[in-house]
Amino acid sequence: MYLDHFIVQNYRNLEKIDTNFDSNVNIFIGKNAQGKTNLLEAIYFLALTRSHRTSSDRELIHFGNDYANLMGHVHKSQVDLDLRVLITKKGKKVWINRVEQAKLSKYVGQLNAILFSPEDLELIKGAPALRRRFMDQEFGQINAEYLYFASKYRQVLFQKNNYLKQLAKGQAKDQIFLDVLSDQLAGIAAEVISRRFKFLRYLSHSASDAYEHISLASEKLAIAYHPSVSNITGDDNTETIYHKVLNNFQKTKEMEIRKGTTLSGPHRDDIEFKLDGKDAHLYASQGQQRSIALSIKLAEIQLVHHLTDEYPLLLLDDVMSELDHGRQRALLNYIHGKTQTFITTTDLEGISWEIIKQPRIYHIQ
Ligand code: ATP
Ligand code: MG
Repeated sequence: MYLDHFIVQNYRNLEKIDTNFDSNVNIFIGKNAQGKTNLLEAIYFLALTRSHRTSSDRELIHFGNDYANLMGHVHKSQVDLDLRVLITKKGKKVWINRVEQAKLSKYVGQLNAILFSPEDLELIKGAPALRRRFMDQEFGQINAEYLYFASKYRQVLFQKNNYLKQLAKGQAKDQIFLDVLSDQLAGIAAEVISRRFKFLRYLSHSASDAYEHISLASEKLAIAYHPSVSNITGDDNTETIYHKVLNNFQKTKEMEIRKGTTLSGPHRDDIEFKLDGKDAHLYASQGQQRSIALSIKLAEIQLVHHLTDEYPLLLLDDVMSELDHGRQRALLNYIHGKTQTFITTTDLEGISWEIIKQPRIYHIQ
């Protein structure tokens, strides 16, 4: 798929843009603070209705305005789509082919975009919450069922935690209601966990392949999923996972009541990136961590293609300057011709562009 026409109004410092993009490679070049990242972020927002940089949509509206508007025309192999997102201070609205969609979940997934920025190093180095957000955001955009179960899980978890707090304070006494909530939560948890296993298994395989291509090194990359209910394995079916989660809830019931919160489940899980079997979080160098993060994003491209038969857009923010020539060439080779790619840079010099036949260059000022 590719985005061929894009209109931006009042998005951060971008007051008005109306432009066409190349279906292959687009390069945004400009000095610092001109709006290159904002433009990538706007494309990402059109796809996912959320920013990779902030959870506060208000920040995205150009200072002094009341709304931001994004409109894009998307080519897919079977259909063409007109997408629109309107961000106001009260919330956002979305349209597909000029028909307003009541649910964001009906809209997300129409356009797929994978974004890679230097902050993605945090995926390896940062706290587990970031890796969970990564799974929820990325798997959610490619699988409507995942999006549904992940959001349902948050909802019921919130309900159960509230009830646990009431029990802890003595404001509620009925433990049967707690059992009902735990049972419901375990059922949804099993749906989330089994999908995480499935997607991570695929991701691990193609990330390992991408790592081999772009890192020009011999180490092997693998991704392991660590559910907080530790006896769950990748071979378990959804039914078995449900029983294991529920058992764990029952075993820790007294402690959960005392603490007033749910102690295990998808909201406490983590993923581990391993280089030659060793935890990259602890042992990998800065350069290796960067290559791992990039490989995961490239693997996501394969995952989207595997599940939807379409290649997503690839948005690369300030990535080229961080890679040496060999790795730059390897990266461009790996993606070339497959995905519509957007690259930001402050300088065209020092980058091995010769692999890209005819990139379209935009000067951002
Ligand atoms: P760099 O090369 O440093 O990464 P950039 O071109 O990627 O620069 P952006 O991150 O896109 O720069 O930011 C451009 C400018 O947008 C910044 O100066 C920032 O202050 C401004 N900006 C951010 N939010 C808003 C907003 N809501 N309204 C107006 N301007 C904003
Ligand atoms: Mg930037």
